[in-house]
Amino acid sequence: MRPKTCRKNLVPTCPRRDSAAYEPSRNGKERTNELRPEALSQLMPFLQTVAQTTQAALLLDYDGTLAPFRAKRDQAYPYPGVAPLLQEIIRNGRTQVVVISGRDATEIPPLLNIHPCPEVWGIHGLQRLKTDGSMEMPRLDERTLNGLSDAERWLGYQQLRHTAEFKAGSIAVHWRGLSESDAEDLRARVLLGWRSIAESSGLDLLEFDGGVEIRASEANKGDAVRTYLSEISPHTPVAYLGDDTTDESAFRAMHGRGLCVLVRPRWRRTEAQLWVKPPDELLDFLGLWLKTCVEHDTFDSGAAAAVNG
Ligand SMILES: [Mg+2]
Repeated sequence: MRPKTCRKNLVPTCPRRDSAAYEPSRNGKERTNELRPEALSQLMPFLQTVAQTTQAALLLDYDGTLAPFRAKRDQAYPYPGVAPLLQEIIRNGRTQVVVISGRDATEIPPLLNIHPCPEVWGIHGLQRLKTDGSMEMPRLDERTLNGLSDAERWLGYQQLRHTAEFKAGSIAVHWRGLSESDAEDLRARVLLGWRSIAESSGLDLLEFDGGVEIRASEANKGDAVRTYLSEISPHTPVAYLGDDTTDESAFRAMHGRGLCVLVRPRWRRTEAQLWVKPPDELLDFLGLWLKTCVEHDTFDSGAAAAVNG
């Protein structure tokens, strides 16, 4: 089926009452678009594909992407304005929003605080918390479980348990909030202690921004993205937003399939095509996404009215 022709200008002026929902204000002033022209010129062709379909997908990492890093991880709430925009995008109904995080999946809904909460893939895709509240997680084999027990025991011997986050299928040591030298010392110790455990038990040892993780080899954001993509129409426009090296496998899994966006204050080498700086450019990205969906709704209604009239 041929896609519907839509208006050339995808970001026209909207009625004022609609704009309030997706143009968060600061200090009572409406935000202006702060996306750099080169980012905007990469984004707009993709948004045209979103405008031409009835269903799109927005895959989102959480920490560092939707929310700033916090030493107190249970207080890492989204950047101001992000949750209301996601709420409106979900409410609009044209976008399936999915969070793919390294956290335990159950930690995301209370931090995001949007309803209904989107589907969440936790522990880099090992868990899948569906919108009906059910959780899917593969059974881990004995070798994996033994390796994780060894890694936990090693932390105990080293008196480093307080630095660790224990998840199903994974243990992460965090050093955010430590001085640079303390962080480097902790990193070197943990890598030295865990490397042989990972090698002997088939676990993956993965560094991320602010820590290192030993985890079941099944846990990989790229696998999560591949599984998700296999379940949706190949014509569904998909964007993946992430900040960390752990998101690179997801960017690679998206290759040729949609738009990959690096969300980071500073650019680094990446597989992503587009780079946006949080929070302002992220808010603009989400605002334009919502605007595209709202405009498309308005366009559809107008077209239906014209046909019926
Ligand atoms: Mg992240």
